[in-house]
Amino acid sequence: MRVLIKGAGVAGLTVALELTRHGIDVDVVERAAAVATGASGLAGGMLAPWCERESADETVLTLGKTAADWWEEALPGQVIRNGTLVVAAGRDTGELTRFAGRTSGCDWLDGAGIEALEPALGGRFKKALFFREEAQLDPRKALAGLHRVLLERGVTFHFGCEVEDGTGSFDRIIDCTGAAAIGATPQLRGVRGEMLFLETAEISLSRPVRLLHPRIPLYIAPRGDNRFMVGATMIESDDAGPISARSLMELLNVAYALHPAFGEARVVEMGVGVRPAYPDNLPRLTVDRDVISVNGFYRHGFLLAPAMAGQVATILTETIPNRERHCA
Ligand SMILES: Cc1cc2nc3c(=O)[nH]c(=O)nc-3n(C[C@H](O)[C@H](O)[C@H](O)COP(=O)(O)OP(=O)(O)OC[C@H]3O[C@@H](n4cnc5c(N)ncnc54)[C@H](O)[C@@H]3O)c2cc1C
Repeated sequence: MRVLIKGAGVAGLTVALELTRHGIDVDVVERAAAVATGASGLAGGMLAPWCERESADETVLTLGKTAADWWEEALPGQVIRNGTLVVAAGRDTGELTRFAGRTSGCDWLDGAGIEALEPALGGRFKKALFFREEAQLDPRKALAGLHRVLLERGVTFHFGCEVEDGTGSFDRIIDCTGAAAIGATPQLRGVRGEMLFLETAEISLSRPVRLLHPRIPLYIAPRGDNRFMVGATMIESDDAGPISARSLMELLNVAYALHPAFGEARVVEMGVGVRPAYPDNLPRLTVDRDVISVNGFYRHGFLLAPAMAGQVATILTETIPNRERHCA
């Protein structure tokens, strides 16, 4: 049994790992020259199912709870489990109450509690929510790590090419092409996400911090080496063109509102990714003869891909006789 995975984003690489764990031979074809060039390379890397429940279905919490463990097992040392801090300006304290009412798994903090967790934010916010079970990873490092692990497991990568329709010499195709499938996949749409990286040694944070705002809730995720990812807009569009001036101002405003030290930070990167999404904003696995598609990860690719990859492995192992598998 040979399986070809199309797409080396988080969906494709997590499926590849799950299949190799079941002894299935895997090739990966990626039209770009490297892994993580799509939406996956621009993600915040937050593994935050409790926070996401604020606007997401219960399924996201159910499937996402074990994501941090999956990533830690796959890539030991890459998952940072420091929780998520959610703050709001004094005039927006009602947003915190609303957020707490729609989520679970958090504690209220006062100013001293905030300062104990994030000394840099001392005196800046009076109240916060702390989701202690949440985690984060660096998406680019994580996908580079998965690439390495997969090579060690004998997976063959074909970069810079696409495959025609049909399975060719493969028994199954797993389509993990993300937003590239918009138009060809019924109901799949794009949700544009703009982000940027700031670099400054003037401030340090130990965990992602979400700043609630009635119109523009955004976050800052520390990445080490004095880098901070600021994200991300949510715009109903599959336009992957350059960041707009308005979005750039909003992202910079949130950083400045969190701490004025970000005013002197260097803007070292700006990026735009298109999140693939179905109408219910939940991922879907669809089977059409020998092609299985895994798509629609919306803003939860790193959070939900491990669970969906497990489902793909289950489907394949239930249909493949044992003698056709190889030991991983
Ligand atoms: C700004 C931003 C922040 C985000 N933050 C988070 C977060 O904090 N946590 C989280 O869990 N999720 C987050 N997400 C969501 C997450 O990034 C996406 O859900 C996820 O990346 C989708 O992964 P994918 O593998 O389906 O698509 P992609 O990452 O886009 O991968 C698809 C791959 O398929 C390749 N491809 C396309 N067509 C073909 C073809 N015909 N043949 C071969 N290869 C092909 C593409 O080149 C690409 O590499 C964020 C997204 C954005 C944009």
